[in-house]
Amino acid sequence: MTINIILLGPPGAGKGTQARKLVEERGLVQLSTGDMLRAARSSGTEMGKRVAEVMDRGELVTDEIVIGLIREKLSEGGNGFIFDGFPRTLAQADALGQLLDETGMVLDAVIEMQVDDEALVRRITGRYTCGNCGEVYHDETKPTAKHGVCDVCGSTDLRRRADDNEDSLKTRLLEYYKKTSPLIGYYYAKGKLAPVDGLAEMDEVARQIGRVLPVSSEIATGT
Ligand code: AMP
Repeated sequence: MTINIILLGPPGAGKGTQARKLVEERGLVQLSTGDMLRAARSSGTEMGKRVAEVMDRGELVTDEIVIGLIREKLSEGGNGFIFDGFPRTLAQADALGQLLDETGMVLDAVIEMQVDDEALVRRITGRYTCGNCGEVYHDETKPTAKHGVCDVCGSTDLRRRADDNEDSLKTRLLEYYKKTSPLIGYYYAKGKLAPVDGLAEMDEVARQIGRVLPVSSEIATGT
């Protein structure tokens, strides 16, 4: 049985962190449009160049571009998807519904990660990730054990996102409230919405998400 879920929440709500846990624990495929766009930027593609400035300002890139990216990934197939940072507009939500219908897939749940704005600002401004394995760290709440070295893979390639600064964060929050938060009502009306407390400790958030997901989607461990 496959499951498909959306992680919905403002920047810094912990979508990426929880998506990574679900990949590890349940073998789902993470589809992060933010990661795809960053990859397009760093590989210097035409599209990457076009979106770079928009992303750095904290604005949303066009629906057409992100829907195209998701369409491509879905056509590659997979055993259940976590949509992380997509959809972010009503047009994207409609397009996703259509794409899932076309491929015979069902959306199981939309996890709404609830957090307050002050906590978001604190989370985002201290955040950095390992460029090699993707582990997420924070200056105050989760620093690396050894300064400048990733705990997981030992890489020294620790990075801060260009858009994790106060100016673009303000724009990202505004974009979220103007364009993305209407999706809460949209998915509530479709009976898909499942709110979780995004401010709880990481494993507790994961437990809350786990309670929403069908039990049979857990990977059989043989134990
Ligand atoms: P994220 O990593 O999800 O925070 O995304 C980083 C940036 O990529 C956003 O601030 C947007 O500029 C762009 N982006 C990511 N996903 C989308 C999306 N679904 N629609 C429009 N822009 C997006």
